[in-house]
Amino acid sequence: MKEKVLILGAGYAGSVVANVLAREFRNKIAREELEITILDKTDLNINQGGFTFIPFELYTPEEITRPRKKLISPRVNTFFGKDGEVTAVDLKNKEVTVKSDKKYTYDHLVIAMGCRADINAVPGLADDLNTFYTSMEDAFKVRDLVKNIKGGKVVVSVASMPVPCPGAPVKFTFMLDSYLRNVKKNRDDVQLTLVWPMEPIGPPEFNKLVTGQFKQKNVEVIRNFPLASVDANKKELTSKNGATINYDLLITVPPHKAPQVLIDSGLADEKGWLSADKVTLQYRGPAGNYDNVYVLGDLGPADILKTGIGAHYQAIAVSQNLINDIYGNKIKTPYRGETGCPIVTELESPSTQGRGYIATWKYGVPPAPFTTTKMGWFFYRMYYHIHWDISVKGMF
Ligand SMILES: Cc1cc2nc3c(=O)[nH]c(=O)nc-3n(C[C@H](O)[C@H](O)[C@H](O)COP(=O)(O)OP(=O)(O)OC[C@H]3O[C@@H](n4cnc5c(N)ncnc54)[C@H](O)[C@@H]3O)c2cc1C
Repeated sequence: MKEKVLILGAGYAGSVVANVLAREFRNKIAREELEITILDKTDLNINQGGFTFIPFELYTPEEITRPRKKLISPRVNTFFGKDGEVTAVDLKNKEVTVKSDKKYTYDHLVIAMGCRADINAVPGLADDLNTFYTSMEDAFKVRDLVKNIKGGKVVVSVASMPVPCPGAPVKFTFMLDSYLRNVKKNRDDVQLTLVWPMEPIGPPEFNKLVTGQFKQKNVEVIRNFPLASVDANKKELTSKNGATINYDLLITVPPHKAPQVLIDSGLADEKGWLSADKVTLQYRGPAGNYDNVYVLGDLGPADILKTGIGAHYQAIAVSQNLINDIYGNKIKTPYRGETGCPIVTELESPSTQGRGYIATWKYGVPPAPFTTTKMGWFFYRMYYHIHWDISVKGMF
C-alpha cells in the first residue's frame, strides 16, 4: 500500500516540506511506494513580507509573487482552487474535505495554512481600515495614502498579538519616517506615532535598538495600548484600558487568527491557535494528541513567534521528522525555536544608504546586541529574490 503524506497549505512552510520530501523520496515516489499531495485554495504564492515595501514602491507585485506550480517539485501532487480549498479536517478518521467535496486521506498530515486578519474583532476598524497586512490591493492602497501625506498625525497601530512578523509594523514605521524625511521632505509637518499593544517591542536587545532609534527619529511610541475600538467619525482609537488616541491617518495591523475552517474542525485551542508540542511540532490539542500530524508556521501555538524565518526552520525540522517517521528510524529532530525578525531603520534614498539587520534567536537564546547596517539593508533587500529559488525550495 502507498504511504500518503498530505500537506494543507502551499504557502511558505508547506512548500518547503513538499520540496524537501520530494527530493528525499524521489525513488520511493517513482516506485509508487509513497505519495505526496499538497492543497491550497489559490494557485499563486505571495511572499507577504514584500507587502511592507509596496507602499514605498520598493518591490513590484511580480517580484513578490510566483505561480505555485513553479515552486513545487513535479513529484508532488498539487491541487489548487476548489479541489485544494480545505473545508473540514477530521484527524480521527484521517480525512480532509475540500470545497469541491472531494476527500483526501493520509498517513502523515502537515497543517500549514497560515493565519488571517480578523478585522471584525475590533468594532469600527472596518470603517477606517488601511493596512498593508492583508493583500496586494490593500498594500497599494496604503502606498497611495503614504504618497499623499501632507502633514498631521499619522498613527501606525498594532491591534493585538500575536500577528505574523511583529517586526513588520516597526520597520514600516521606520521606513515611513525615512520616506517622509528623505523623499517627500515633509517629515517636520508630520507627527508620527507607533501604537503597540504591549510593553516590550520584541526581545530585550530588539526593544533596546528600536526604542533608541525611534527616540532619535522623533517617532512617538505608545505602548500597552491593546486596541478595543475605532471611531472613524471622531478619528479616535480606544484601548482595552479606556485610553484614547486621535489621528488624522490611521494605518492598522488587525488582530489575526488561525483559519476558520480549523477552528470549526475543533482543532484550535482556547486562544484560537493550533496547539503543538513546541519542540516536535506534533499536534497536541483539543482534538487529541496525534503524532502523525504536524503543525507549523503562522497558525501554530500563540507563543511561537510567527515569522517566515521561523516557518522555514519549522519546515526543515518537520521535513526531517517526516523522513525519520517514513524510514521508521525512531530519530527525532527538534525544532529549537530558531526564528528571527528583520529590521530596517532607514530607507535607501537619494541622501541615505539604507540600514537594516536580521536579528535571529531561538528558545532560551535571545538576540545579542546589534545595530543596523548598510549591508543588512542590502541583504534583506536581496533576500526577496533568493526567497523563491533557495528558501521555498528548501535548499538550506
Ligand atoms: C506584512 C507582512 C510582513 C512580513 N514580513 C516578514 C519578514 O520580513 N520576515 C519574515 O520572516 N516573515 C515576515 N512575515 C511573516 C511571513 O510571511 C509568515 O510568517 C509566513 O508566510 C508563514 O508561512 P506559512 O506557511 O505558515 O503561511 P503562509 O505563507 O501564509 O501560507 C499559508 C497557505 O495556506 C493557504 N490556505 C489558507 N487557508 C486555506 C484553506 N482553507 N485551504 C487551503 N489552503 C489554505 C493559503 O492560501 C496560503 O498559501 C510577514 C508577514 C506579513 C503579513
